[in-house]
Amino acid sequence: MDTVTAGDASPSWRGIEHGLALLKHGVLYRVGDGRSIRIWRDNWIPRAHGMKPIGSARQCRLRWVTHLIDAQARSWDETLVRRYFYPCDVEEILKIKIPPTECPDYVAWNFEKSGLFSVKSAYRLAMRKEHGEGEISTSSTPLDGRKVWKDLWSTHVPGKVKVFAWKIANNGIPTQANKCYRHLVQHESCEMCGYHSEDCFHACVQCPHAVALRQAMREHWSLPSEEDLLYTGPQWLLILMNKYSKEVNANLFMLLWRVWSVRNSVLRAGQTISVNGSVVFLTRYMDSLVQCRHTSLQPDSKGKRCAVVGNAEAQGRGRQEQKQWIPPDPGWLKINVDGAFLPASGAAAVGIIIRDHDGHVKLAAWRVLRHCRDAEEAEAVACCEGITLAARWPDIPMTLETDCAWIVDSLKNQRHDLSINWSTLLRGEDEDGGALSLGYC
Ligand SMILES: [Zn+2]
Repeated sequence: MDTVTAGDASPSWRGIEHGLALLKHGVLYRVGDGRSIRIWRDNWIPRAHGMKPIGSARQCRLRWVTHLIDAQARSWDETLVRRYFYPCDVEEILKIKIPPTECPDYVAWNFEKSGLFSVKSAYRLAMRKEHGEGEISTSSTPLDGRKVWKDLWSTHVPGKVKVFAWKIANNGIPTQANKCYRHLVQHESCEMCGYHSEDCFHACVQCPHAVALRQAMREHWSLPSEEDLLYTGPQWLLILMNKYSKEVNANLFMLLWRVWSVRNSVLRAGQTISVNGSVVFLTRYMDSLVQCRHTSLQPDSKGKRCAVVGNAEAQGRGRQEQKQWIPPDPGWLKINVDGAFLPASGAAAVGIIIRDHDGHVKLAAWRVLRHCRDAEEAEAVACCEGITLAARWPDIPMTLETDCAWIVDSLKNQRHDLSINWSTLLRGEDEDGGALSLGYC
């Protein structure tokens, strides 16, 4: 399988070379008598990556796998294996079964259970190598392939921006270089600045209009440093992403996406470049995204959760503030109610507690709800129950406290709407004979 190829080979020959390299990557020896397998140079350890031993644990003169086999016992010479290999290789080697009767070694395809080569599995292997999934590593930065792709898809940017980032990471945007490679255009020079080759990195990072926008955006966003914005190879974006936080990566993706769309609107629609226009566009876009995330942290109009985006410390603070109970005025009672709802099972429960100024519990109750529709309904039932139970002290003024902003707003402003939960709330309101004030915690 050893091959030497000329540097100035023709495209078709290069294609063959590529296929051969792929074949070498996926082919391994199955151990028979071990006479034709070179310990340190051949693929013979069946695993997903690195089918050669990672190295020798100490100086080793043994060359052939047969030297590691106890021919009489038809098994590995475990002492030898443990002496010369690192533990991770030892485990894998000892798993290989030596045939009970001596037979020659043979070649198999590692990426198919049957060991038979298939174009489909070779294609999958090629894609994995090309796109870096599973194993991405460069001499400078080792990357965890799975993690970095997962990070890309979980960045807080719109789906179209993620897809764009994914395309850049796969060299999949129609730059001049890519179009030229597919014979769609004659030259690969940048039509924006005249640079000799417009690849993804040039188009989104290097081109002068990209540099100008990036400099302007640094005033508003944190972005990767200029020293890090280097072309480190086809995986430059993944390597860059790996160095920075999710927030910085989100900013970077938005910026690259904008740079590319500016390029397209200049070249296709003849628009002029406005760095300020792009700055306004990007900052507003990002602000509205953050706003959306705030809203999504507050499920519907309940105000149930603390709408804090940012570090966990801030979120913790928010929760702490929410939990503090403030006693009612002397002579008053306070009803605290809460509803809980599990969307997965539809189970719900409500809890009610009535306390006086000193915090003494006058009444505590809870109830499991059947056939509850949503969290808001659970909250409405909790309020309704609280008001009903409070009716036993008709002469004592009370404060009803709920963490559901919608209910407080509806009751305070007598805002009778058409929602299903309003009718639930109404049942409790009718019971309210005494003085009742409303609070929101
Ligand atoms: Zn350019």
